[in-house]
Amino acid sequence: MTLPSLTDLTDLDGGRVLLRLDLNVPVSDGRVQDATRIEAALPTLRWVLDRAAVVAACSHLGKAKGAPDPAYSLAPVAEALERALGRKVRFVPDCLDDSIAAAEPGTLLLLENLRFHPGEKANDDDFARRLAEPFSHYVNDAFGTAHRSHASVVGAAELFADGRKAAGLLMEREVAALSRMVVDPEQPYVAVVGGAKVSTKTAPLEALVERVATLLIGGGMANTFLLAQGHEVGRSLVEPEMLDTALEVVRRAGERGVTVALPTDVVVTDSLDDPQVIEVVAAHAVPSDLMIVDLGPDSRQRYANAILGAKTVFWNGPMGVFEVDPFDAGTLAVARAMADTEAFTVVGGGESVMAIKRAGVADAIDHVSTGGGASLQFLTGEPLPALVALED
Ligand code: ADP
Ligand code: MG
Repeated sequence: MTLPSLTDLTDLDGGRVLLRLDLNVPVSDGRVQDATRIEAALPTLRWVLDRAAVVAACSHLGKAKGAPDPAYSLAPVAEALERALGRKVRFVPDCLDDSIAAAEPGTLLLLENLRFHPGEKANDDDFARRLAEPFSHYVNDAFGTAHRSHASVVGAAELFADGRKAAGLLMEREVAALSRMVVDPEQPYVAVVGGAKVSTKTAPLEALVERVATLLIGGGMANTFLLAQGHEVGRSLVEPEMLDTALEVVRRAGERGVTVALPTDVVVTDSLDDPQVIEVVAAHAVPSDLMIVDLGPDSRQRYANAILGAKTVFWNGPMGVFEVDPFDAGTLAVARAMADTEAFTVVGGGESVMAIKRAGVADAIDHVSTGGGASLQFLTGEPLPALVALED
């Protein structure tokens, strides 16, 4: 895949740049609670600011429903961005505002939430044209939205000619790291997949089994695999409609000589809110009135060893209900093994990235992806619409 880079942009001096960022940060009480995504956007933002006359940064935020909603305003992000950059940011309260075209050279604008217009999610032609109109150049650094066919990443991008559009530095870094998981990954390649459900990760599981040496399955999704193999799982979270999918993944792995690891021991409890019973049991002996909430100690060790012996590791999805203190041990064991292994390591997924941070090992991971859904779709080999729109 050959994405146009910032250095491929022509006539950028004096240009007016529409810069799509992922500034979808948590906001409460009118303040940004976690500035990770703002920090991640700074290198590209600075690069473009150093060269162009006008830069208009834009993003979506939260679950805005196609109409203005103060709860999802980017105004607090403008303040946080001013602090991070140490320069003035002019906040524009509507991403299609007439004042955008008239911005003076030297101005940095931050446009209000793109999803306040229904045309954003609909990839509406007219919305895309009005969004793109005031600009000579387009840069997309919003990897987290690259799997969505939305106007600001697809329709608008398509309106710019070659030499006038590019991927930002973060987007490039994401694509480079994830490509190493898809194109000739160094073996042994181990994938660790967990999280709540099989159904949200069926395509990635099917794609991973074609490339990895070992698939380590944990979290709620392991319950469905255990049930498919004939184990009773008590009151555990399961998806009965996914049993065939689980069996198919195991069958395909067998054909390819891929090891599929499931927990052999598990932590079970009676309640997440107020646990009275917490026990370690064999995965084939889960009491009918209890539920699986974490890997047991043997499984933690086995999964960690597989990660330590790998050359390439991808991890998505926690190994247990890690939000609840005593049930985070499996997830933390995987996080620490990810940090200690010599392998090239990539972590993707909202909750998995949280776990990496909680374990304090983010700096020891080769690449912590800013896109959960986008990174999983990338691994399937299915083209990401935003990247296709940049390539032309
Ligand atoms: P990610 O955001 O990393 O892709 P997911 O969103 O797929 O991960 O899943 C994360 C959720 O899975 C967590 O909130 C966690 O509590 C839940 N989970 C993990 N293991 C279990 C389990 N055994 N039972 C129920 N929920 C689980
Ligand atoms: Mg999640």
